[in-house]
Amino acid sequence: MGIKRILIANRGEIALRIHRAAHEMGIETVAVHSTADADAMHVRLADHAVCIGPPSAGESYLNIANIISAAEIAQCDAIHPGYGFLSENAKFADIVEAHDIIWIGPKPEHIRTMGDKVEAKRTAGVLGLPLVPGSDGAVSDFDEARRIAKEIGYPVIIKAASGGGGRGMKVCESEDKLETLMQQAGSEAKAAFGDATVYIEKYLGNPRHIEFQVFGDGIGGAIHLGERDCSLQRRHQKVLEEAPSPVISTDERMRMGEVCAQAMRDMGYRGAGTIEFLWENGEFYFIEMNTRLQVEHPVTEAITGVDLVREQIRIAEGKPLSVKQEELEFHGHAIECRINAEDPFTFAPSPGLVTYYHAAGGMHVRVDSGLYAGYKIPPYYDSMIAKLIVYGRTREGCIMRLRRALEEMVVEGVKTNIPLHQELLRQTDVLNGDYSIKWLEKWLEEPE
Ligand code: ADP
Repeated sequence: MGIKRILIANRGEIALRIHRAAHEMGIETVAVHSTADADAMHVRLADHAVCIGPPSAGESYLNIANIISAAEIAQCDAIHPGYGFLSENAKFADIVEAHDIIWIGPKPEHIRTMGDKVEAKRTAGVLGLPLVPGSDGAVSDFDEARRIAKEIGYPVIIKAASGGGGRGMKVCESEDKLETLMQQAGSEAKAAFGDATVYIEKYLGNPRHIEFQVFGDGIGGAIHLGERDCSLQRRHQKVLEEAPSPVISTDERMRMGEVCAQAMRDMGYRGAGTIEFLWENGEFYFIEMNTRLQVEHPVTEAITGVDLVREQIRIAEGKPLSVKQEELEFHGHAIECRINAEDPFTFAPSPGLVTYYHAAGGMHVRVDSGLYAGYKIPPYYDSMIAKLIVYGRTREGCIMRLRRALEEMVVEGVKTNIPLHQELLRQTDVLNGDYSIKWLEKWLEEPE
C-alpha cells in the first residue's frame, strides 16, 4: 500500500532526514513539535505541523495520546519514529497499528524481545549469534551469581535487563564485591527502569564496538549492509563512527554479515536493525540489538549507496528490499562526527542562540542538521546539533577531507565539540585506526 502522508514523531536532524527521504518519494510530511521547537527547521520544511505539548519530552515527544491524535487530525497514513523517544517502544508500535496507521518500523513483538536484554541475549543465542560468556538469563541468587562469576572469571559486568544508553551497568573485579554490586545494580535499575532484573557477563578488557546494519522484509528475506566501528565513545556515548571498520577484513565482513542476515531471516525481521557486538582478538560477542534506525546510519549509506530511510518506507509499504545481497557493493570509506553544542573538553552543555552558521560543503561532504543562524538551541533535549559525514575512496582520503570539512564548519554563539574532533583527527592512534572503546576516555584523562 502506497503511503501518502507520514507523521514524523521526532525532532532535530533525524526529523529532517526523514522529511527529505519522504519528499524524494513524493510523500507528504507532518511534523509534530513541542512549544520549544516551534521555529525548528523540520517544522518549517514539513508540509504540515502540529504542536503536541510543552517542552518536556514526557509531555510532547513521548506523549502517545497527543501524537496519535495529531496523526488522526492530520490524516496521516504512517508514522516514522526516528531514533530515541518512542522508536523502541513496543506499546506505541502496537497502538499505531491498532489505529490502522502504518508503523515504519519492526514488528512490535521484535521490538519487545530485543528491548529486554535478557530475552535479546537468549534469542540471539538461539539464532546462532556468538554471545559474551555469562549467566544464562537473569540472576537473583547470590550463590548462583558467585558460581557463574567464578566459572567465567573476573572481572565480570552486572547489567540491567531493561538498561539502555549505557546506564545500569557495574563492573565487578572480585568475589567479595559481587553481592554488594549486584544489590546496587538491582536497586539502581529498579529506580531508573522500574525493573530490578540483572544478569552477569564477562567484562571484556579492551574490545572494539562493531555493529552490523541489517534489513529485513518481514517475510523471511534479509540482507546485511556491512559493519560500522563505533569504538570512539565517552561514557558509552558514541562520538565518531566509521565504516568499514579498520580491523575487519572483507572475508570477515561477509562471514559475520551473513550470520546476522541469516538470523534476521530466521526471525522474519522487518525493517532496519543494528546488531551490536564487542570485538576482541578476532572474536565477536553479541551485546544487543537496536530495532530502529541509528544515529550513525549515514556512514553505511555513504559506502553502499543505499538510502536506509527510503528502504524503511518501502518495506513499510509492503514492497520488497530494493537490493539483493549479491548486488550490494561496498565502496570507499566514510566517517561521521557527531557535532554537539557543548564545551569540547569539559562537555558542559551549551544551548542558546546560534548567531552565525556556515555548513561545510564540497565533494562527498554531507551535513545533516536543522541549524540556521538565529536558531535558538533549546536546553531540553539532546545536545547533538549536527552530523558531519564525509566519504573518501580510501580511509586516508576520507580523513583528509574530514579535516578540511571541519575547518569550514562555523557555529557561533554556542560552544561545540568541533575542536575535539579536530584534535582527535591529529592523534596517531586514530589515524592508524588503532583504538578500542577505552581509548577516548583514557586520552581525555591523559592526552598523548
Ligand atoms: P546500552 O543498551 O546501555 O547501550 P550495551 O549492552 O550496548 O548497553 O553496552 C554499552 C557499552 O558498555 C558497550 O558499547 C561497551 O562499551 C560497554 N560494555 C557492555 N558490555 C560489556 C562487556 N561485557 N565487557 C566490556 N564492556 C562492555
